[in-house]
Amino acid sequence: MSRSSRRTPRGTQAPASLHRDLARRHENQIVSPAPTMGHAWGVRFVGLLLILLLSATANEALAQRAHSGSRCLGTPSKGRLENGVQLPARGANYRTYGQVPWRLGRTYVHEDVRAAVLEAYAALETSQVGHVFVYGETGFFEGGPFEPHRTHQNGLSVDFMVPVRKGAAPAQLPTTPGNRFGYGVHFDRLGRSGGLAIDFEAVAAHLAELRRAAEQRGMRIEKVIFAPELRRRLRGTTRWGEIRDLPFTKKRVWVRHDEHYHVDFATSCAPLT
Ligand SMILES: [Zn+2]
Repeated sequence: MSRSSRRTPRGTQAPASLHRDLARRHENQIVSPAPTMGHAWGVRFVGLLLILLLSATANEALAQRAHSGSRCLGTPSKGRLENGVQLPARGANYRTYGQVPWRLGRTYVHEDVRAAVLEAYAALETSQVGHVFVYGETGFFEGGPFEPHRTHQNGLSVDFMVPVRKGAAPAQLPTTPGNRFGYGVHFDRLGRSGGLAIDFEAVAAHLAELRRAAEQRGMRIEKVIFAPELRRRLRGTTRWGEIRDLPFTKKRVWVRHDEHYHVDFATSCAPLT
C-alpha cells in the first residue's frame, strides 16, 4: 500500500462500540494486561474490518490528492486539520498502539508534529536502549471531532502509551483489542500494573526529547496530561530539570491518564472558519 493511500477521509470513524470501549474506564481496577478476546469483542472486531473494506475506495480517491503541507485551524478542542500526515505504523524503536485503529485513520497529525515525534524517537534510540515506545491516538486526516476524546481535533495532540519495564528489562505495554489497545490497562499510584512498572526515567527522557524537537521546529508543548500522582514520580529522574516547567495539567481531567500521557503541541494555526 502506498503511503498516501493510507489516508482516511474525514468522517471515517470507528464505530460507536470502539468509542465506548476506549472511553469506558474502571478507575480503581487494574485490568489484566492481556485478557482473552471475548465473543463481544470478536463481533466488534469483525465490524471494524468491514468498515475498513468499505472505506478502501474512499481512501484510494484521497490518495490521488497531492500533499501540499499541513495546516492547522482552531484549537485542539475545536479545530480542523488540512493535509494531515500519518505517523508510521512502526520504526526502529516505536510502534502504533494497534493496526486496526491505525488503518482506521486514527493516527494523523500536523506534519511538524510528525517530524518532532519521529525526531524524539530517533534521539531515544541511544539514550533508552531496548525500549520500544508505543504511541496511541492522535486524530483524523482532516481533524475535527475525535470521540471519545475532547481534543485531538487539529493535528497537534498525541497520546503516548507509558514505557514500561518488567523487572529490570524494558518491556512493552500490551495493546490488543481485548485491553482496548492499551487504554484498558491501569496502573496504581506507584505506577505498577501486574508485573509491569512504568519506567519514569524513560517518560522523562521522552518528554525532554519531544520538547527539544518541538522547539527546534518553532513549536512548543502547550499541555501535558499525566495523572498527578504519577507525574510526581518524574521528579528526581535524570531529565527532570529539562521538563519541570512543562505545562503539566494540575486540575483533574475527565479520565485518569495513567496508561498514557497526552501532549498538545502548539504552533501558529489559522482561525477556524
Ligand atoms: Zn489524548
